[in-house]
Amino acid sequence: MINVQALSKKFGDNLVLSDITTSVKKGEVVAIIGPSGSGKSTFLRCLNLLETPTSGTIEINGKNLTASKKEIHKIRQQIGMVFQHFHLFPHMTVLENLMYAPVKAKGTNKNEAREKAQQLLKRVGLAQKASAYPNSLSGGQKQRVAIARALAMEPQLMLFDEPTSALDPEMVKEVLEVMKDLAKTGMTMVVVTHEMGFAREVADRVLFLDHCILVEEGHPAAFFQRPESERARDFLDKVL
Ligand code: ADP
Ligand code: MG
Repeated sequence: MINVQALSKKFGDNLVLSDITTSVKKGEVVAIIGPSGSGKSTFLRCLNLLETPTSGTIEINGKNLTASKKEIHKIRQQIGMVFQHFHLFPHMTVLENLMYAPVKAKGTNKNEAREKAQQLLKRVGLAQKASAYPNSLSGGQKQRVAIARALAMEPQLMLFDEPTSALDPEMVKEVLEVMKDLAKTGMTMVVVTHEMGFAREVADRVLFLDHCILVEEGHPAAFFQRPESERARDFLDKVL
């Protein structure tokens, strides 16, 4: 589904991603881990062109993302993204947050969008919050709304950038549960995370980034038990 070839990204003279080549299959859950500043967010943002690669190519479903502007718009609609800090629309109710993009960007009719939104809220356990405003919700609830909102566009791929890092510890689990359920439905997911338990348990593959380089990737069981690189061993020693 995703094919990344020799992807590099510079901000000015600062090399942030160096020659990254990897791929993600349909239905796969890939966890990206690594120290702060290693390029994880930039990599994720390149996948839906929130950042423009300096060189290299990214294909999604066989379409070259870096090629045509027309395609980008269409491809982006198929990619959901969830951020650390939720980014909900504060002046809209929860239901309106979920209805906005389908109605505006896809032309879904309002009744259909509302019905779908209600289903999704039920799925993330927040049916009773449909008419609440985001600022009345807990962090965990906000993030579950953000996930539901991304799903309202019926994406083929979901990107998560540290979705639980801004949450109080007692709320991490409820968000990870929603993500786990989503993984079980066969959704293709790329998740930047510091939750090693989630990576180990839910991911099909782990990518370890350090200093702009994809140092190693592998099955979580192998990676966590016997990382091949010194850098991954050092990192795991610090976080586990
Ligand atoms: P991570 O998510 O692994 O913590 P990032 O991808 O956010 O790492 O950042 C990698 C490097 O790129 C850091 O040195 C960061 O300062 C730099 N960087 C990220 N975004 C920008 C930007 N918009 N402009 C300039 N430098 C950036
Ligand atoms: Mg980051």
